[in-house]
Amino acid sequence: MNDQAKKKQINAIKGTKDILPDEIWKWQKLETEARLVFERYGYREIRTPVFEATELFIKGTGSTTDIVTKEMYTFVDKGGRSITLRPEYTPSVVRSIIENRLNLQPQPLRFYFIGPMFRYDKPQKGRYRQFHQIDIEVFGEKDPAIDAEIVEMAKNLLTRMGVTDTDVLVNSVGCQTCRPGYREKLKQKAEESRSRLCPDCQRKIGTNPLRIFDCKVEACKEISIEFPKITDFLCPECDEHFKQFCKYLDAFDISYSIEPSLVRGLDYYTKTTFEFSSRSLGAQDAVLGGGRYDDMMKEFGGPDICGTGFAVGVERLLSIVSVEENQQEWLYLIYLGDEAKSAAMEVARFLRENGVKCLVEYRERSLRNQLSRANKLNAAWVLIIGEDEVKKGTFQLKNMKTAHQDTVTKEEILKHIRRTN
Ligand code: AMP
Repeated sequence: MNDQAKKKQINAIKGTKDILPDEIWKWQKLETEARLVFERYGYREIRTPVFEATELFIKGTGSTTDIVTKEMYTFVDKGGRSITLRPEYTPSVVRSIIENRLNLQPQPLRFYFIGPMFRYDKPQKGRYRQFHQIDIEVFGEKDPAIDAEIVEMAKNLLTRMGVTDTDVLVNSVGCQTCRPGYREKLKQKAEESRSRLCPDCQRKIGTNPLRIFDCKVEACKEISIEFPKITDFLCPECDEHFKQFCKYLDAFDISYSIEPSLVRGLDYYTKTTFEFSSRSLGAQDAVLGGGRYDDMMKEFGGPDICGTGFAVGVERLLSIVSVEENQQEWLYLIYLGDEAKSAAMEVARFLRENGVKCLVEYRERSLRNQLSRANKLNAAWVLIIGEDEVKKGTFQLKNMKTAHQDTVTKEEILKHIRRTN
């Protein structure tokens, strides 16, 4: 490698991004709010590995989905196994329940999860190759009331984050009983429009015509509006579930629209699907999506336990949140001279131990310089320690907002700060 090549800057991989200190507070706020809201509804956190056996997603997410056919980060590891970075969370949690026999615990099981996902899609605004989801799943509750409750919980979380302009779209994608009949009708209709569909959708007619509704090509979207609607083909059980779901949404006073093309990109959904979209987002307007998946556990060879859940796209949600940063007030310690430096380090230790956030910087600077630095860094307080202060055991505490200055002992600093905080 020549010198020039050695010096070449290495950048983050396309479709990934750094979350920088200036924006991390939003992430932390969302994570804190999510934990608080979910725990109020009885959810517990679960964490599963970032990578899994590839076949987990082929089987769980579905072999005809865009995620599996085009978007997975799959590689062979040194032991010759096919590994995939998780593109979504649900198959992992289903695997974990079966493997750890969590199904033996009292049901329904309610879990939440926060972490990164990986999809090799074309990066654009709101679409990344590593993105983050906050996910919840409920296992072992058939009642449509739970589907409505998770929609209400999602709304609650968004409201707490200051996001109130979302549209709630709902649909039912039927079940193994009614979907095959619908799929046939859909196939016939799609066949009639074959030549006008994109090559990908032409392929989907044969493999899984429902996936045509996932297509992002404008012409295909327009053509599919004319296709038969799944809601007209539901079996009595699915029809009743959907009606009840809508009734409970009404009870929660949630406004929603029924969107028959909402099939949500995954093969495993049964009955309920839903999505929250925001007008403040561009083309990628789905903030959150979810639905019911009653057959996945059984198909993985586990017990016959139904599931329902949703995933929030963290990057997308954070791009529209309008909450203010709630900064904790903090203190900047100024010292003058060597003796004062050691005293400052000791005072800082004492303050931190007592829950005060404070900063000492170890570069020689004049008093003026240090004061202007504290100002620039937005410190609420400044504590000045000079040789004289060390001898007397008292310090100058300055309130940077009011410019008021007091002579205080170490203990009195705490009183002053707590009084105004
Ligand atoms: P899904 O797992 O496809 O149901 O997506 C759930 C949510 O994750 C979506 O509503 C988006 O907010 C978010 N999401 C999905 N794919 C991406 C991506 N490539 N980049 C950023 N966010 C995404």
